Amino acid sequence: MSLALHPGYTAAEGVLTGDATPMLVLGIETTCDETAAAVVERAATGAGRILSDVVLSQINEHAAFGGVVPEIAARAHVEALDTIIDKAMGKAQLGFAALDGIAVAAGPGLIGGVLVGLTTAKAIALVTEKPLIAVNHLEAHALTARLTHATTFPYCLFLASGGHTQIIAVLGVGNYVRLGTTLDDAIGEAFDKTGKLLGLGYPGGPEVEKQATAGNAARFALPRPMLGRAHADFSLSGLKTALRLEAERIAPLGEEDVRDLCAAFQQSIVEVIADRVRMGLKAFQERHGRPTALVAAGGVAANDAVRQALQRVAVEASTALVVPPPQLCTDNGAMIAWAGAERLALGLTDTLEAAAHARWPLSEVRGVGTAEPAGKAVSAADQPASKAAGPQAAGTKGGSVRP
Ligand code: ADP
Ligand code: MG
Repeated sequence: MSLALHPGYTAAEGVLTGDATPMLVLGIETTCDETAAAVVERAATGAGRILSDVVLSQINEHAAFGGVVPEIAARAHVEALDTIIDKAMGKAQLGFAALDGIAVAAGPGLIGGVLVGLTTAKAIALVTEKPLIAVNHLEAHALTARLTHATTFPYCLFLASGGHTQIIAVLGVGNYVRLGTTLDDAIGEAFDKTGKLLGLGYPGGPEVEKQATAGNAARFALPRPMLGRAHADFSLSGLKTALRLEAERIAPLGEEDVRDLCAAFQQSIVEVIADRVRMGLKAFQERHGRPTALVAAGGVAANDAVRQALQRVAVEASTALVVPPPQLCTDNGAMIAWAGAERLALGLTDTLEAAAHARWPLSEVRGVGTAEPAGKAVSAADQPASKAAGPQAAGTKGGSVRP
C-alpha cells in the first residue's frame, strides 16, 4: 500500500485542509455477473455525486444454466468491459487525465471475473499514472449509504445478495466487524433455488416475490431456521429442503400451488430476516452503542416484504432504515468508485501488485492508522498467493455453477 493523498485531505480524517477540488474516481466491477463502470465525484466535505453509472447484466448468458457459470462470466467481462468503461467516461464527459484514481473490485468474487477487472484497472492506472485503489466488493456495498444518504458512522449493515448474507457493524472506512453470516446458502441464492425448483425464471428472487404476492402463505408450515437463537447467524438449507419436500408431496404443481409455496417461503424468510437482524442490532448496541442507521443492501433488499420487515425492526431499535435505490443495492460500478474515493481521501491506495481475491473477509480490509480492523489487517498486495487465483477459482458462489 502506498500513501498518495489527494491535495487538501488529511490522512487521519479525510477532511478538507486547504483548497481542494472534488475528487473524481472511476470504479470497475466484475466480481460476479455484472460488468459495470462508473465515475463518482467526492467533494472535500464528503458529499458524493454519481457522474455516470453503466451496468451490463449477464443474466441472459447464465439463464439457461439457472445460475452464474464462472467461465462464461469471465469471458463476458473480457468482451464487454472496455466498452462499458468507454461509456462511463463518455457519460461523465471526462478523459482519463481528469481522474484522481482508478478503483476496482479486487474481490471477493469469481476469480476469473475479478482478474479481468483488476488487470484492466491496473493498465489504466499504469498508463495514466493515477493511483489504483483495490476495493473489497463487500466494503463497497457497506459504504454505498454514505454516497446516497450521507449516513454517518457507526451503522449496521444488512447485506443480502446472491453470494453474500452478512450483518456488519460499519465503524469507519476499513473498520468493519461481522456480527452475523450464513452457515450455508446466501438469501438471494435461496430465492434463486426456490425459483428454479418451482420452474420460475432466473433470477428467482423477483419471480418468487411476484408469485408470493398472490399466494396463501398459511397453506404450508415451513420451518424458520435459527429463529430465537442468541447469535445473528443464518442457515437456509433446511428451509430449502422443507420447501422441496412440500412441492414433491403435492406434485404436479398447479399455478395456485406455486403461488402458495412462494408465499410460504417468502413469509418464512422474512420472519427469519427480522429475527436475525434484530439479534444483529442487539449485538451492535452492546458492543458499539446505538447505530446511526440500519442500512440494507444487496439484491434481496429490493424485496418489498423484506424492506417492510426491516423497517419494523429498525423502528423497534430506535434507528432509521436506509435503503439505497435498487440500482445501487445490486452490483454496480458507482459503489466501487465511491468506496475508492473514500479510501483515496484517506490515502489508502494500492500498488500495481494488488492481488485478486476469491475470498476476502471484511475483517482483512485495511483502514487508516489506529482505525485497524478487528481482524488481521492485510493489504491487498500482502495477500498470500493461496488467496488469489488458484484451484478455488470457482470463487464464492459454491461451485462451478451456481446454484
Ligand atoms: P449477486 O450478483 O452477488 O448475486 P446482486 O446484488 O446482484 O448479487 O443481487 C442478486 C440477487 O438478489 C439474486 O439472488 C436475486 O434473486 C436477488 N433478488 C433480486 N430481487 C429480489 C427480490 N425482489 N426478492 C428477493 N430476492 C431478490
Ligand atoms: Mg449480480
